[in-house]
Amino acid sequence: MSNKVILVVLDGLNYQVAHDCMGYLHGLIEQQRATLYKLQCELPSMSRPLYECILTGVPPVVSGIVNNQIVRRSHHESIFSLAKGQGKVTAAAAYHWVSELYNRAPYEAVRDRFTHDETLNIQHGRFYHWDQYPDEALFLDAEDLRRRYQPDFLLIHPMNIDDTGHQFGLDSRQYRNCARSADIHLSNYIESWLADGYQIMVTSDHGMNNDLSHGGTLAEEREVPLFVIGEGFSHQRGTIRQTEICGTVCQLLGLEHNKPYAQEILAP
Ligand SMILES: [Zn+2]
Repeated sequence: MSNKVILVVLDGLNYQVAHDCMGYLHGLIEQQRATLYKLQCELPSMSRPLYECILTGVPPVVSGIVNNQIVRRSHHESIFSLAKGQGKVTAAAAYHWVSELYNRAPYEAVRDRFTHDETLNIQHGRFYHWDQYPDEALFLDAEDLRRRYQPDFLLIHPMNIDDTGHQFGLDSRQYRNCARSADIHLSNYIESWLADGYQIMVTSDHGMNNDLSHGGTLAEEREVPLFVIGEGFSHQRGTIRQTEICGTVCQLLGLEHNKPYAQEILAP
């Protein structure tokens, strides 16, 4: 199997809110074109540790990226390093911590915000360092990268849902409406991504609680969605762990790797 893959990580999106508020993605499910799985995020339920988990398959207490203040490159092979090393084109429109984990740390905005360097793990990057950077702009950044460089693997990582949760909490109209907005943004792109041969995964790093935070073991902090869209998936019942996302993307990309993956969610 050798496909192109788009991985969308909607930062801070709780499973139940994704389930209740994302009508476009659920419309695809009702047409048997997408499937939703529930994941338990690894611990601690925090951003930088779980970017590393999603992109390397290594849980935080093993990777050493155990809180948001650890600023260094990853010590593990990632989807980016494996893909780049095997001749694939990599790209990301993402928060600057992703640039720090896989390209260069610490992030220097003047040098790193717009990255085009085929020797780096993330060859084509649009990185941002404002938590309020509009999701709409981030999706446009990603689409520009996609059209310009036709990456085999593209990470799209908007921050507004998490940021809104920190201001208003899980049980708020603002948080839910931000999830609805992300669903609308996705509805503008998914058909053209599929038409261009991409397999699509939409997930989150962690959820949100009513204390305007996350980090612990509450169900609302740990339960996150994984929507899969495309013919590369089985669209059958199955289970997948957050640590298996990396290997599952590697399988879709046709990469040699030794990461754990979820065979049962992939097409036979
Ligand atoms: Zn957060």
